[in-house]
Amino acid sequence: MFQFQNIKEYQSQLFTNKSSCHEAVLSYLQLINENKHLNAFVEVYAEESIQKAAELDAKRKTGIPPGKMHGVIVAIKDVICYKNHKVSAASEILKGFNSLYSATAIERLLSEDAIIIGNCNCDEFAMGSSNENSAYGPVLNALDETKVPGGSSGGSAVAVQAGLCMVSLGSDTGGSVRQPADFCGIIGFKPGYGTISRHGLIAYASSFDQIGIFGNTIEDISLVLEIIKGEDEYDSTICTIPQKNYEKKSTFKIACFTDALNHHSLDGEIKSEINGVIESLKNDGHTVEMVNFDLLDYVVPTYYVLTTAEASSNLSRYDGVRYGYRKIPGSAELTKFYTETRTSGFGDEVKRRIMLGTFVLSAGFYDAYFTKAQQVRRLLAEHTAKLFDDYNAMILPTVPATAFKIGDNSEDPVAVYLADIYTVYANLVGIPAISIPLFKHTNGLPFGLQIMTNKYNELPLLDIATTLIQKYKRY
Ligand code: GLN
Repeated sequence: MFQFQNIKEYQSQLFTNKSSCHEAVLSYLQLINENKHLNAFVEVYAEESIQKAAELDAKRKTGIPPGKMHGVIVAIKDVICYKNHKVSAASEILKGFNSLYSATAIERLLSEDAIIIGNCNCDEFAMGSSNENSAYGPVLNALDETKVPGGSSGGSAVAVQAGLCMVSLGSDTGGSVRQPADFCGIIGFKPGYGTISRHGLIAYASSFDQIGIFGNTIEDISLVLEIIKGEDEYDSTICTIPQKNYEKKSTFKIACFTDALNHHSLDGEIKSEINGVIESLKNDGHTVEMVNFDLLDYVVPTYYVLTTAEASSNLSRYDGVRYGYRKIPGSAELTKFYTETRTSGFGDEVKRRIMLGTFVLSAGFYDAYFTKAQQVRRLLAEHTAKLFDDYNAMILPTVPATAFKIGDNSEDPVAVYLADIYTVYANLVGIPAISIPLFKHTNGLPFGLQIMTNKYNELPLLDIATTLIQKYKRY
């Protein structure tokens, strides 16, 4: 079995001939096989990975400069297109569909010699918080197999948690990387909106979606970010403002929302552990101030109005004509054809959101819901901009409670939505955010601390996260 602290160390083993990509791939494939019951992968590219490993092992002998991701074993969420590989967003409606092109993030990883070992299970169209809304069935949390791994990128999180890959890609529209990272005890990073190209990422809510990264160390995540971020002619929403040089700071000025720590939904132990870290930060010379944020209870409704509106539009393309699945083959009356295909091709949660989104966009209700929610989004952005005039970062819990039992919340979608209270804020305002695994609950499950920084401040975010992990990891 492979032993290494981070990708850098693994690569130095490769370059000193202490191991090979071939050996690495075989060992990961074996682990994937032994952990099949976790249901983390939709498909494993075994043959292809072995072949790629052989090419890379040969490449090292030629003197051709190696790519920065040389030999790194990566898993991707089943919403990211990889040319000539199946992609289905864990939905019946896309089953059997082959990607016609690769996402920019995938192209960049491959051009730096990464090995993509397979694609991972998730909630259908990235809608959910437990990975139970998948056409492939639930994913199990490897730390306690009766519990959910979180979602929607549950498979990508478990792939890292159970050591089935070195790093993985997920997507985060309202917390789908940070929340499963919290439940699984690993790091989950969501860049600011416009940092990583969305080209080739199946859209859920386009003004919120970002590809995110799971890993065991900040160094690994930084390496992947460095490669996949940046301008892309296929995504006009990418930020083109050059990143400022960032000087590492020895002390930080951090804000924390009083309303968030006092929220009735927050588990008492999570609250006291976070308060403990706040005290330690202050003792170590950092400034942490509690600030008011009276919009907290509006973030979840605002998020669900806007994302379902965008989803109802984005998902209208799955009509049985253009992609994969079709209920009635041959000709049929058109409306019946659409209705039957979409009724049987989408799962319950996706249909609920399409209906909600269609409702909030309908002529009679547009102003009452959609316009209002846009106004709240603007207020949030203004509030956030002011906040970052005074602070380098903000800390919050990632999730109000630890991982729940599979099946426990399946009858109550609103309860599940409300648990997104701490994560959706960063997507509403487009700022980078990360969940770092600092704590263990007395119930035995891990949980994280969430850190956020201002737009385009990914580097400071990763720097602060490094310091906090080094100093305050509690288990
Ligand atoms: N739990 C949130 C939702 O269901 C997050 C989804 C996501 O980030 N893709 O919408």
